[in-house]
Amino acid sequence: HRSAFEEVRFVGSSGAGKVPLGLKRKGMRIVVTGGAGFVGSHLVDRLMARGDSVIVVDNFFTGRKENVAHHFGKPNFELIRHDVVEPLLLEVDQIYHLACPASPVHYKFNPVKTIISFSFLTNVVGTLNMLGLAKRVGARFLLTSTSEVYGDPLQHPQAETYWGNVNPIGVRSCYDEGKRTAETLTMDYHRGAKVEVRIARIFNTYGPRMCIDDGRVVSNFVAQALRKEALTVYGDGKQTRSFQYVSDLVEGLMRLMDGEHVGPFNLGNPGEFTMLELAKVVQETIDPNARIEFKDNTPDDPHKRKPDIAKAKDLLNWEPTVPLRKGLPLMVNDFRKRIFGDHIAATT
Ligand code: NAD
Ligand code: UDP
Ligand code: UDP
Repeated sequence: HRSAFEEVRFVGSSGAGKVPLGLKRKGMRIVVTGGAGFVGSHLVDRLMARGDSVIVVDNFFTGRKENVAHHFGKPNFELIRHDVVEPLLLEVDQIYHLACPASPVHYKFNPVKTIISFSFLTNVVGTLNMLGLAKRVGARFLLTSTSEVYGDPLQHPQAETYWGNVNPIGVRSCYDEGKRTAETLTMDYHRGAKVEVRIARIFNTYGPRMCIDDGRVVSNFVAQALRKEALTVYGDGKQTRSFQYVSDLVEGLMRLMDGEHVGPFNLGNPGEFTMLELAKVVQETIDPNARIEFKDNTPDDPHKRKPDIAKAKDLLNWEPTVPLRKGLPLMVNDFRKRIFGDHIAATT
């Protein structure tokens, strides 16, 4: 692993006024798989701002070129259209592996073949390929796993020591089991091939650039309220989730990658809301008159979810700073622009 720092000597313009030796960060070569997606594109922004050379690898299954278009033409940015299920040869220092068809619409409702090829294969074969790449070039590898590895949890809040309660034959299991296998492969390459690895278990995250129609609850409610449609609450709406703003997640991912601990680490905001409470926050933020419509829930929907983040606080010195009521308006501005266009957004 190439050191992120190089010693530099600061010398005054005359050469006389020497200042003490300092450490200046040297740019690294970093690949972000899934970098044209929601989380990936925000991570890419931070890495670019830090001065790293960033290679985005994405097949645009759910990601969009527009999410990274503002970096086109910069010498330290590259975008490769590639499916990580196929082998990939690159020379890099770090691999942030985010590529995964993550949206519930795609894994719950698509035909079986699509589910298997895009979700499970991406998580298993795609992760294997990126670990093979990490092994060959000696790069550090970070897996973005998920709170879904805990399934419908019997422990609350969930700590990293909990092994989970996943239904192996349920409608969500191709995603849950795919990520669980990806974690297994990551630890096997760590133990067997001495690859430097990091594992993040990400809890529900929201923010600008989320897919508008991918069926996740925050994007659904925000888009529905803006379009004057009813907010669709599934089941009785008493199930809970903990919503993290994307900038907090990106900070956590970078601390994890650049720190000394393998993990797994929960990265999420412990603020817990029922779906009815979330609907209320969306009403307060966008439209107090937005109606609520109850719909059938999908099977195996986890009843409760809230991260125990003591480990990340302690070892990464990380905790979220943006509460839901602060983060939601930031996302609403972006959704307004994308749904109605810049002109209308400016006047509403
Ligand atoms: P996203 O769908 O916006 O991003 C995923 C990206 O991966 C997309 O750009 C997509 O085109 C790309 N991709 C999918 N399959 C690919 C393949 N085979 N080859 C190359 N690229 C491929 O989703 P996101 O919310 O940004 O999620 C990023 C990561 O974080 C995922 O691994 C996801 O499982 C994890 N995660 C996200 C959340 C959340 O709430 N957003 C929660 C838990 C875990
Ligand atoms: N791989 C890759 N890029 C690389 C090195 C490997 O995509 O730079 C893929 C390779 O094609 C294989 C997987 O990663 O499918 C695992 O590689 P590894 O060397 O660990 O296993 P092996 O190829 O020996 O089975
Ligand atoms: N949900 C809802 N209305 C929607 C979409 C989702 O009430 O329009 C519920 C869903 O049943 C689940 C919660 O919101 O209980 C979170 O769903 P999401 O798909 O966003 O994330 P995940 O289930 O993966 O945590």
